[in-house]
Amino acid sequence: MPRDPRYDVLFEPVQIGPVTAPNRFYQVPHCNGMGYRDVAGMTVMRGIKAEGGWGVVCTEQCEIHHSSDITPFIELRLWDERDVPALERVAQAVHKHGALAGLELAYNGMNAPNLSSREVPMGPSHLPVASFTYDPVQARAMDKQDIADLRRWHRTAALRAKRAGFDIVYVYAAHALSGLQHFLSRRHNDRGDEYGGSLENRVRIVRELTEDAKEAVGDSCAVALRFSVDELLGPEGLHREEAHDMIGLLAEIPDLWDITLSDWSNDSQTSRFGGEGAQEPFVAGIKGLTSKPVVGVGRFTSPDAMVAQIKRGVLDLIGAARPSIADPFLPRKVEEGRIEDIRECIGCNICVSGDMTMSPNRCTQNPTKGEEWRRGWHPERIATKASDAKVLVVGAGPAGLECARALGARGYEVALAEAGMELGGRVAKECRLPGLSAWGRVRDHRVQQMQNMTNVETYLDSRLTAEQILEFGFEHVAIATGASWRRDGVARFILRPISIAEGAEVLTPDDLMAGKAPSGKRVVLYDDDHYYMGGVLAELLVAQGRKVTLVTPAPDVSNWTHNTLEQGRIQTRLLELGIAIEPHRAVTAVRAGGIETACVFTGRKTELACDSLVLVTARLPNESLIQELTAKRDAWKDAGILSVKAIGDALAPATIAVAVYAGHRYARELDGPETGDDPPFKRELTEVLPL
Ligand code: ADP
Ligand code: SF4
Repeated sequence: MPRDPRYDVLFEPVQIGPVTAPNRFYQVPHCNGMGYRDVAGMTVMRGIKAEGGWGVVCTEQCEIHHSSDITPFIELRLWDERDVPALERVAQAVHKHGALAGLELAYNGMNAPNLSSREVPMGPSHLPVASFTYDPVQARAMDKQDIADLRRWHRTAALRAKRAGFDIVYVYAAHALSGLQHFLSRRHNDRGDEYGGSLENRVRIVRELTEDAKEAVGDSCAVALRFSVDELLGPEGLHREEAHDMIGLLAEIPDLWDITLSDWSNDSQTSRFGGEGAQEPFVAGIKGLTSKPVVGVGRFTSPDAMVAQIKRGVLDLIGAARPSIADPFLPRKVEEGRIEDIRECIGCNICVSGDMTMSPNRCTQNPTKGEEWRRGWHPERIATKASDAKVLVVGAGPAGLECARALGARGYEVALAEAGMELGGRVAKECRLPGLSAWGRVRDHRVQQMQNMTNVETYLDSRLTAEQILEFGFEHVAIATGASWRRDGVARFILRPISIAEGAEVLTPDDLMAGKAPSGKRVVLYDDDHYYMGGVLAELLVAQGRKVTLVTPAPDVSNWTHNTLEQGRIQTRLLELGIAIEPHRAVTAVRAGGIETACVFTGRKTELACDSLVLVTARLPNESLIQELTAKRDAWKDAGILSVKAIGDALAPATIAVAVYAGHRYARELDGPETGDDPPFKRELTEVLPL
């Protein structure tokens, strides 16, 4: 289908200094947990985005010097000449598909604890390093020689970037991850020289680095300035008015303004806290301060929203990190008039958790993310079927839906049987909880894709038994029956069922999602799961008029969401809702009318009165079906069954992303070669040098 003329504006070229972006789809720099360690994986991933139509594809931040070493995080490095060939390959992979390649040069300064290089970190002032962890290391205040050195390092890095073939070279002054932002910030910069104090002085270093880069590479490379316009800290922090004054001082110096919020948790808000286009109030008006193009983000997945940003004069280029991860082919789909095929980001930040845990980043919606090179998984292409085998998929949660969709795309005859009256499994239930409506996109995309597949049949209201499956005659059976929340307290801290008195009301997330409400007013929610469910259900209970106490063995609520950049927002929201939070405590006994909790350090016990207890603990796989089928293995041959396999939560409960991946992997590997004991993926090994 030709593209809808309404979207023509998105395909206009945009001049950025000496280079021209072929369209307005701009993949802004984003971390991916691969960086210098998994260069091949990162390179192929970036190349695929260019293939998918992004007109500009940027790298993650790239440390320009070994005194900007953010170990343990894995980003790119340009510490010396030997790093150039790896970057060259990235630029080539992007150019192959006609896109511009951008490199985000970073000097992290006091954000870099230098755990690997062991250099003394440097910043505008003597202050503890501002890393994600409380590293017991301080940065020293840079003197004039240090600043001169930094200018030289940055210039050298820009020249290397140009030599590596990049079209856009960044000066990075954003997210409170960049040392340059610390110079801009009144909170961090207490200098009395010409690099501190007045606005002019605080922007001086950014001005100098931008001018140096222009002078060094500006003949053929555009120089972009990535800049945070608000830290959301009120007048104490960098804020709109001050940022606008700073932009006014630098307005025409860079070739492109890349506008962000700071810190990263404000810039990459989850869908629970910010919707599509949530940054518009912060970006609006910047185009009035400069004649240079402006790029900004907003988790844009709708081409209509993108067009509106351009038409209203908010942005020139539609920046995207997460939407380009969830769907590397988003621009191509708009171009080809296939809007309904766009795999929309759900705003869960599982991708961010990859970077935060130093592992190749994963995506809930795009199971091929991070697997492009090492497994050869392309987000849009999948091998056609290798046999005429028919496949039965039991359970239509994220694992079953993705399994059926991907098998269908391969051309297999597939039957998808779901016990309930709706598709989606856990996402169908969870998307009705406060703040999680975007989770429904996991189901919607797959259901939409299967609609046009004549080889996939879906059956609702079909709770299958082992006997029925043996009668059906499918060659392969994928069991995706999901998991159930435990009601005995077992999870991470308590490993044996706790004593629950008769008459005590104990509810699980499954009960609450099925519409069951606690009978009394006072509810204790015990969270030993530590992801989003505990916090979300606490919100639900408050909305139902309950007085909620959240007890957790962790130091704070929803502790794992530090990795999705949400923990601060979740805890703030719960406190503002009046929820009492009791950290470092585990539930040790449940009585009628109350519970006993123990301090996780001293074991000291306390009684807490309540009418109901909600246990957000571990889950157990719904494995009765696979167990029954396994017990009848002798009957498989006569039934024509070649394989029966549990996938997703039915095998071991985990995230939605893991379930989608499990379904996808099953489909990819069906009829494939037996995997031996070696890893079923390629690895890039460190070069072994002579000792
Ligand atoms: P996952 O995250 O692994 O996809 P979910 O819990 O989201 O798992 O989904 C499992 C789905 O399987 C649910 O929709 C559930 O109704 C369905 N299911 C469970 N047992 C059966 C069964 N015996 N036959 C058909 N569907 C089943
Ligand atoms: Fe979006 Fe979640 Fe995928 Fe990240 S992991 S791109 S937030 S769907």
